Amino acid sequence: MQEPLSFLQFSSLNDVTGLKHAITTRNGGVSSSPYQSLNLGYHVDDRAESVTHNRTLLANALGYGATSLVCAQQVHGAHSIIVNDTQRGRGALDWHSAIPQTDALITREQQLPLLILVADCAPLLLADPVQHVLAVVHAGWRGAVAGIAAETVRHMQAEFQSHPAGIRVGIGPCLCAPCLEVGPEVAAMANAACPAAIKPALNPDKAQLDLRALLEYDLKNAGVPPEQIEAMPHCPRCRPDIFFSHRGQHGTTGRFGLVAWWD
Ligand SMILES: [Zn+2]
Repeated sequence: MQEPLSFLQFSSLNDVTGLKHAITTRNGGVSSSPYQSLNLGYHVDDRAESVTHNRTLLANALGYGATSLVCAQQVHGAHSIIVNDTQRGRGALDWHSAIPQTDALITREQQLPLLILVADCAPLLLADPVQHVLAVVHAGWRGAVAGIAAETVRHMQAEFQSHPAGIRVGIGPCLCAPCLEVGPEVAAMANAACPAAIKPALNPDKAQLDLRALLEYDLKNAGVPPEQIEAMPHCPRCRPDIFFSHRGQHGTTGRFGLVAWWD
């Protein structure tokens, strides 16, 4: 029997007038193992019909048009793009028409839902209530080290005159530090970006990377006040009952998502 869809939300972003958002879980969809059940990713080896069914269930539950959704072909980079009405529907119900080579989508259009897919990497929601701009961001350790959070703030600033001090940010479920052990090369890169994000691991050849700390540090450097950043405590690998986890399921799993739009 199909479970109902359930969502997580950033309480601090629920106050922003007109902003709608949700973080999905893995529950309430129609995909079967190992993608059970609300897999939103077409690029994994799930049946496309199941993903379309899941995305339609999601759109109906949240109240946006399933064919309006805009998605990206995420590549763990630091590139962001401004989305407007001409891109409406790109990647909504397939993979190939999604916007290529980008990990952050920014818009100020009304009724233009944006989706970021994750399974261990962090989904971020940035909102500027003054200029009426929102951004959704996919940030794993590569994107975080490359500074995608700050790059997105700068892009909002350059394009829409967003003031970083007025931007509110939500950081969604992502790997906790004990679940994100990295080798010396990655540790050195992360250490150069934010020394506080690297912690010793039990294995002396490894280090723990605190992705949330790295993202928060990057955002603060870009001018976002720390008290305007809300980080969810959930880790997908620690909670495989709620979320898809790439590491937890050894690379074969589905994707959950962050969707946001201006109503
Ligand atoms: Zn964990």
